[in-house]
Amino acid sequence: RVLYEAAGGGGRMNAGGKVPLGLKRKGLRIVVTGGAGFVGSHLVDRLIARGDSVIVVDNFFTGRKDNVAHHFGNPRFELIRHDVVEPILLEVDQIYHLACPASPVHYKFNPVKTIKTNVVGTLNMLGLAKRVGARFLLTSTSEVYGDPLQHPQVETYWGNVNPIGVRSCYDEGKRTAETLTMDYHRGLGIEVRIARIFNTYGPRMCLDDGRVVSNFVAQALRKEPLTVYGDGKQTRSFQYVSDLVEGLMRLMEGEHVGPFNLGNPGEFTMLELAKVVQETIDPNARIEFRPNTADDPHKRKPDISKAKQLLGWEPTVSLHQGLPLMVSDFRQRIFSDQKSTMS
Ligand code: NAD
Ligand code: UDP
Ligand code: UDP
Repeated sequence: RVLYEAAGGGGRMNAGGKVPLGLKRKGLRIVVTGGAGFVGSHLVDRLIARGDSVIVVDNFFTGRKDNVAHHFGNPRFELIRHDVVEPILLEVDQIYHLACPASPVHYKFNPVKTIKTNVVGTLNMLGLAKRVGARFLLTSTSEVYGDPLQHPQVETYWGNVNPIGVRSCYDEGKRTAETLTMDYHRGLGIEVRIARIFNTYGPRMCLDDGRVVSNFVAQALRKEPLTVYGDGKQTRSFQYVSDLVEGLMRLMEGEHVGPFNLGNPGEFTMLELAKVVQETIDPNARIEFRPNTADDPHKRKPDISKAKQLLGWEPTVSLHQGLPLMVSDFRQRIFSDQKSTMS
């Protein structure tokens, strides 16, 4: 639901996708849960730039004020320290629900809390959407496919998830969040959107979150060996964050509920990724093999035909183009941290 007003002010109208002639788009009130995190903060930048008013709701478990500090003082920006597991009353037009730790290291840290965040947190945000009539977007994950038996993964695939493993708090949590979202939609007519996000990287990722791209980049910059888990032949498909944000916004503004895979179909083994990191940062970086973690998916690659067709979306930034953008951010943060601990 996008609202427009006549260029001179005055009447509001509901105009679906296209901006009617002579009318300018009216800023929306948007809440972004998890907006102080990696993906959320990039989304907030785009929404603010577009002229919307943004409320970030975040408990700072993995997010940082620094990620949104450049908006402090902007009257269209508000930051609330709040845990989505607790109810909250807000008046908004759209809800981007991102709050949830995304790195395996973080979501396994307190698995019960991860489940509460996904289930109770999502329930609360859907309750909010229902009360104020807002459109709700869930950031689900490729992890709903588990260790997939179908490759590449299509949205119609139901997945191969271990319900009692160490990753289940996240995988099953997100699956339940999807179920809740669809039940609020079917049963109560709430406008919803579901994105299934595949591995995403870029500036502002937590330095030591244990994810493979952030690990390799930080390790290469610190002149430490790159830690490849298992035999390094497992694959992932890495999406640059600006592509994801574009996809999320198109999904929210479009007419389709989803779920939609949002990811870059370029598939790399972890050894190939290590090679790209070596080429980008340090050709002499060493590789060290470590035992793999439990239930690690062997392959992952999105089929994005549905998003291409219905959202007109596809990624534009390759790993070779995106990685250097992340490296400059990491270099600056790692070496300024070192300076501040030395002084
Ligand atoms: P992130 O950890 O950087 O951001 C998550 C944010 O949510 C943080 O700011 C954190 O403080 C906040 N948060 C966590 N629990 C909360 C709670 N109970 N109440 C309020 N705030 C809470 O992770 P990200 O990579 O930016 O991921 C954002 C969303 O995208 C998550 O829902 C994640 O599951 C999903 N996703 C991300 C990826 C990826 O590769 N980055 C892949 C699939 C799905
Ligand atoms: N909720 C919220 N903010 C709101 C409206 C609801 O946090 O503006 C929470 C509410 O506390 C409840 C959940 O969302 O725990 C689901 O709300 P809903 O009204 O759908 O269910 P009910 O309260 O009837 O169980
Ligand atoms: N991985 C690795 N070295 C690391 C961290 C991760 O080889 O230092 C591997 C991990 O075993 C997995 C892949 O990289 O196969 C992606 O892991 P990540 O934690 O980034 O994301 P996810 O498993 O959620 O896709």
